[in-house]
Amino acid sequence: MGMQLAVHMVTIEELVPREHYLRRLEGVLDLSFVYEETSHLYSRRYGRPPIDPVVLVKYLLVGFLYGIPSERQIEQRVQTDVALRWYLGLDLFDRVPDHSTISQLRRRKPAFRKVFRRLFEEVVGQCIANGLASGRLVGTDSTHVKANASRASEEQVELTEEPGVYWERLDAYEEEGLAELERKTGRRRKSRTKQVKKDRRQTKKRVSRTDPEAGHMKRPGKPRGQYYLSHQTVDTDHGVILDVRVTPGDVYDSVPYLEQLEHVHRAVLPIQAAAADAAYDFPLAHRVLDDLGIRFFVRPQTAHDRTSVELKREAFRYEESLDAYVCPNDKLLKLNTLHRSASGLYRLYLADKRDCQSCPFRSQCLRPEDRRGARKLEHSYFMPQRRKNLERRTQPEYREALRLRQIWCEGSFAIQKRCHNLTRLLRRGREAAEDHCLLSAAALNLKRLIRNAD
Ligand code: SF4
Repeated sequence: MGMQLAVHMVTIEELVPREHYLRRLEGVLDLSFVYEETSHLYSRRYGRPPIDPVVLVKYLLVGFLYGIPSERQIEQRVQTDVALRWYLGLDLFDRVPDHSTISQLRRRKPAFRKVFRRLFEEVVGQCIANGLASGRLVGTDSTHVKANASRASEEQVELTEEPGVYWERLDAYEEEGLAELERKTGRRRKSRTKQVKKDRRQTKKRVSRTDPEAGHMKRPGKPRGQYYLSHQTVDTDHGVILDVRVTPGDVYDSVPYLEQLEHVHRAVLPIQAAAADAAYDFPLAHRVLDDLGIRFFVRPQTAHDRTSVELKREAFRYEESLDAYVCPNDKLLKLNTLHRSASGLYRLYLADKRDCQSCPFRSQCLRPEDRRGARKLEHSYFMPQRRKNLERRTQPEYREALRLRQIWCEGSFAIQKRCHNLTRLLRRGREAAEDHCLLSAAALNLKRLIRNAD
């Protein structure tokens, strides 16, 4: 029997089932803001854009929603998928925008990238409006995304370390600390800030020539090579991702943390409590979160006491009421000065030289090079807040916060990697990497929004 061809009168509208996922997506996500954000890109002189900017955003978004890894493959899927055509506003026989036009447009109009952050923010706003995120407890973590950069092209480059974002914040705390020092000791000391700024260290980095903005990641239990890191803060009610920042793969998790959390707290949703793993247990975080009124649940980092002497820090008892340490010989180490380094601020405690000179523990307590001097100890200027937070670490509430962080952060990363393209990047440069991570996060948030909007 020969194949029979029949002519049917149907419209694309009839072909897409009423309950189809993309119909629901169209119902929850209003993309009219895209015209607002892109109007300046299309001046009258150059005429209409080659592709409607909303179509462009939808094109890329479905790629992330369905885990289609490349623009070429999106084009192929749209050719044959009626529902995708419907979502993009194409009729059955309309020409599908081809992937090279899309790529060209993204390359030629870098200002287009603002649209991706705005898209992400719109979706977050919708999730909050629908009661899917409350800020009661947020969790933060990072995951690695493979850069499009070859390890073969790596070279050693000498770079000057930039002062951290919290440099100025540290300056303010140093001023506060110096005033307190003067009150307690009667001694006035000048700020070391300028000196520290001059001391900026040179570091060697492995940079890839194919994508010099990525970073060589070297973390225990993780693959080695050129990566970016996607840093995400997630609400633990339903796993809505509240913010995404991207850094090179060799940046510590603590670096973008406070800026991200402060941004969420002030501009997205007031945070009541924050949870994080041990990589985020750095002294300044305890103080800044305390100042913001955010309760902090962090897995404690184990301290490594590198002093070579027998009597380590544990042998000394800190006496809060005196703001001094009591040594094994029952003598006091008093607050002596404030010490500033590139990344931290410390209180220095010093024993009385005369006590140490006549002490039976001298040889166990003093290093050979300071046998003629006195024992000193230092701790972070922000130790009081850290101590207060970590005192709660055995409470059920504390453990529960850490558990929720793990479930929602690691769960989100796993789904994004499996279903929403968060494993590797096709484009180069940090900004393109951030667009990619934002779209992946927006896709997951949309999925959660659509599921809960039922
Ligand atoms: S050497 Fe000084 S600080 Fe160490 S135990 Fe003796 S008195 Fe205390």
